[in-house]
Amino acid sequence: MPHVVTQACCGDASCVFACPVNCIHPTPDEPDFATAEMLYVDPSTCVDCGACVSACPVGAIVPDHRLPAGQERFVDLNARHYAAAEAPSTSDAASMAARFPVDHVLRLPLAPAAPPSALRAGTSVDVGIVGSGPSAMYAADELLRHPQVSVTIYERLDRPFGLARFGVAPDHLSTRSVMRLFDEIARDARLRILLNTEIGRDITLDEVRRRHDAVIWAGGAPTDRPIEIPGTGLGGVASATSFVGWYNDHPDFADLDVDLSTDRAVVIGNGNVALDVARILVTDPGELVATTIAPRALEVLRRSEIEEVVVVGRRGPADAAFTLPELVGLADSGVPITVDEADLAPVLHPDSESPGAPGVLDDTSRAKNAVLQEIAARRTPSGRRIRLAFWESPAEFTGTGRVSSVTLRRNRIGDGPTGIEETGQHRDLPAGLVLTAVGYRGVAVPGLPFDAATGTVPHRTGRVVDGDAPVRGVYVTGWIKRGPSGFIGTNKSDSAETVAALLEDLSGR
Ligand code: NAP
Repeated sequence: MPHVVTQACCGDASCVFACPVNCIHPTPDEPDFATAEMLYVDPSTCVDCGACVSACPVGAIVPDHRLPAGQERFVDLNARHYAAAEAPSTSDAASMAARFPVDHVLRLPLAPAAPPSALRAGTSVDVGIVGSGPSAMYAADELLRHPQVSVTIYERLDRPFGLARFGVAPDHLSTRSVMRLFDEIARDARLRILLNTEIGRDITLDEVRRRHDAVIWAGGAPTDRPIEIPGTGLGGVASATSFVGWYNDHPDFADLDVDLSTDRAVVIGNGNVALDVARILVTDPGELVATTIAPRALEVLRRSEIEEVVVVGRRGPADAAFTLPELVGLADSGVPITVDEADLAPVLHPDSESPGAPGVLDDTSRAKNAVLQEIAARRTPSGRRIRLAFWESPAEFTGTGRVSSVTLRRNRIGDGPTGIEETGQHRDLPAGLVLTAVGYRGVAVPGLPFDAATGTVPHRTGRVVDGDAPVRGVYVTGWIKRGPSGFIGTNKSDSAETVAALLEDLSGR
């Protein structure tokens, strides 16, 4: 019985390194790893040993006969990833057969062996890390593999682990279980976590730099990307990131004024955050009791009058920002969801023959389309539901004091910066709550260079640079390094790269 990667896949690739027969792909050194929305087990080479199950920090891998309800579709998704894979050359296959006791291994093992320590025995290295989210914890883990290293983490909040605690949806318990791995890392005697310690308030960055041989800034992207249209200041308009913080008990958002006495909420943007907030808004509060949701938020949700949550994407389904595993999880979870079939038809650019036609879709977009088509064919749910809308951009939020309507402009494929253009049509959608889920954004760190266009600190393989000049002893990892994209586990390889640069710099001492 082969194993199957399911919805909670965090992409940290621990399973890849644990697998003795190299049947999980893409691996971090394969080109499509950077864009993969999940990893996949090859059912024809999986030897069912379960090593990946123990390695996965979020419990996302299960034998195919023990799939939880709603995850059945992942058997096919895993298998389909390999359907078109090329067969190896005869010599590769022969050498693999000699090295591994399996008859039909299809790929060379790509999981790299851990490099030998770049540090001389007897040296001691003291590293400060700012932030305690996933990228910080993976960086600490990577550093603490070297017995010469000790680490101090500076965290401004009273609880550690950043977005793993305050960003992951409360009903995504598997994903949240990555905190058990972080707890494990935090138990190392060579790691100190200083809570309630904010750089710039309690200690300066210069002071932190003086205290340590090197500093890794892993402060993430703590604000939301603004949306610049009229009406964003109205009551009832908030960022999804603040709403997420509110239901996850983030101290900064405890007092967010959330009024759910309206029959429609509109979520702008259709990334995974948009799906998270929409799902929480329509889930029966009775089911949320068994999650980690903040009790105060649950009480407000119990009184919700919302009937419909419209998730608005400005582009078409093929370019939806939500990932395939999250869409599948939503479609098969029993959450009432609907999509208008007309939104799914390819919308052609007036001057070209066929852009946007199904023939140009990649495999992941094609699979998303199939799920959306299936949702569209379902009967529209009668009660509280999510509606996925495509091809619409918000033009204005209107209302007196509080928002009461959203003006949406219709788009089609075109020559604009995001590959769309306005059609000239628009509609007004009544709504008493608007959540903007258009992405997170990094903020400038006093004392470090900053690229305002991307909201990141400029770096070379994790080494902070100011123009061409290195900022000695300072490194970055996570969203402040690469921008707000990827999954929790993406930070593992990202932090490994930064730590490798740091250790190389300190190895000559
Ligand atoms: P995101 O994936 O970048 O999605 C942002 C959405 O906002 C996109 O639909 C984007 O449309 C839209 N948008 C941006 N500017 C806009 C504008 N001016 N007007 C209208 N729409 C606009 O961001 P996110 O949802 O915040 O997620 C951030 C990262 O965290 C992602 O990598 C995500 O996968 C990850 N995450 C993962 C999970 C999970 O795995 N369960 C959960 C939450 C977050 P365009 O595509 O057209 O730009």
